[in-house]
Amino acid sequence: MTDLADAVAPLSTEEFIAGVEAAASRFDATTYPQRELHTDDWAVLTGAGVLLPVLPAEYGGRDSHTEMCRVVEVLAEQNLAVAVYTAIVTGLALRPVVLWAEEEAKREVLPLFAGPLAPTAGFASTEPGCGSAMSGLATTFEEVEGGYRICGQKHWQALSATASWWVVVAKRDCGESREYGWFVVERGDGFHTSRRYEALGLKVIDYGVNDIDAFVPAHRRINAGTRDLSSMVDIYLSGRAMIGALACGFLRRVAREARAYADARRVGRSPLSAIGFVRYRLEAIDSAHTVCAALNHYVQTRLDLKSDLTPEFPSIQAVKTVATELMVSSANHYQQLAGGEGYRCGSPTNIAAQAFLDSRVFTIFDGTNDLLSQQLAQHCLDSADGRSLSAFLAAWAPTAPAVSAHGLDLRFLDRELRQEHLVLAGRAIAYTFAAARVLQWAAETGADADRVRTAAEFLTADIDRVRVEFGLLERLGVDA
Ligand SMILES: Cc1cc2nc3c(=O)[nH]c(=O)nc-3n(C[C@H](O)[C@H](O)[C@H](O)COP(=O)(O)OP(=O)(O)OC[C@H]3O[C@@H](n4cnc5c(N)ncnc54)[C@H](O)[C@@H]3O)c2cc1C
Repeated sequence: MTDLADAVAPLSTEEFIAGVEAAASRFDATTYPQRELHTDDWAVLTGAGVLLPVLPAEYGGRDSHTEMCRVVEVLAEQNLAVAVYTAIVTGLALRPVVLWAEEEAKREVLPLFAGPLAPTAGFASTEPGCGSAMSGLATTFEEVEGGYRICGQKHWQALSATASWWVVVAKRDCGESREYGWFVVERGDGFHTSRRYEALGLKVIDYGVNDIDAFVPAHRRINAGTRDLSSMVDIYLSGRAMIGALACGFLRRVAREARAYADARRVGRSPLSAIGFVRYRLEAIDSAHTVCAALNHYVQTRLDLKSDLTPEFPSIQAVKTVATELMVSSANHYQQLAGGEGYRCGSPTNIAAQAFLDSRVFTIFDGTNDLLSQQLAQHCLDSADGRSLSAFLAAWAPTAPAVSAHGLDLRFLDRELRQEHLVLAGRAIAYTFAAARVLQWAAETGADADRVRTAAEFLTADIDRVRVEFGLLERLGVDA
């Protein structure tokens, strides 16, 4: 056990999170510089124990699903980019080691992350020729004496040039069949950052192109499914689930600050918030916050990042797509109502420019939303068992309560669904799922009835928009 582990072990969850909150205040998006996170600042976070919830108790960790989520929720309220930074290390890189690596690899790696001066770790899947469709994966592995040789190129990894440890996916083709392998790679094994990228937002995180020519000892192959990527879908789900918590923290801040800005700013003799359409935008942001509070409640009370998430595949696809669309649309509303001042980096009156730049990529990374929506619709079709899609959704536990409570008519989905329809259908399913989560959250927390009603109205309108887009596809001949 480290001194840090000894110090935080007796703390209750509330006491532990209060300590993280205190550390997080240093990273307030209003004042924190837009540059790569300094190691001293990372030490402030690791010193507060942000990595401990993912680690098992025997390695000095707090072993807590709830705390993994609450840490990133708290950080996202202060600084979205710092929350993503932390979620990459805990949810994407360390979690697969904790859950699936051999004991020898755990003993080698995990104690390094339990101390107050912990390194960072990243997750390397995407390649220049392979993002959405993993069939294009080109990084290979082969068995050599004592371990494996991994060769290939990855790009866009968060913490590309700075992380010391990596979880890397590679393939081995044998004639017609293909095998996937997951490996824990230390930078010194042969992980080299050959080029840096400049990202539009999330400036505290570094990105780039990573060339891999590494020897990895045998014990550092992660003991996961090998036949196809679906056997290891769990590895991709944890980051998506954690976005529910991130979105809730981020939107709590955006909702609060957008309203404060609109009340303080004078247009003529009245505050901006006296304008009807500005009030509509504020309602949209508040509603987005409500929906993400409900999704976060679901993630924290119904999921478990400490176990295999594969059975939760459809729910997590819905959480990720809805939460990220609401982050981007709310940041857009906030920036619009802040006017020119919202286009200013470092404005003393608002963080709208930063909120927009930092949130924009959420619908793209961790699985682009269009693909995730398509996969969600396909999953529901495959599960419908001869029923129409609308009949399935009316009976399926994740969506049924919303279909009946709001009298949703989803029969427009009951037709041949080509690729473009599947994407849109996935969105409608995800909004329906979110509407059900709002009902569940309201019942379990006694949430304000007006908030719940408004959120339901916005989600129903989102579903109606999908119905209209189905017609549009037909009129445009896209689905011909
Ligand atoms: C800031 C940032 C951080 C990232 N962090 C990491 C990381 O830590 N580790 C890592 O391995 N990767 C990371 N990535 C990579 C990220 O996951 C990929 O960019 C993403 O999966 C999309 O892949 P691609 O860029 O190759 O886009 P492409 O696969 O070329 O897709 C481009 C676009 O095509 C459309 N599209 C694709 N498929 C479909 C479909 N089925 N239906 C409809 N439209 C579709 C979508 O609009 C999609 O956005 C990061 C990327 C960014 C920008």
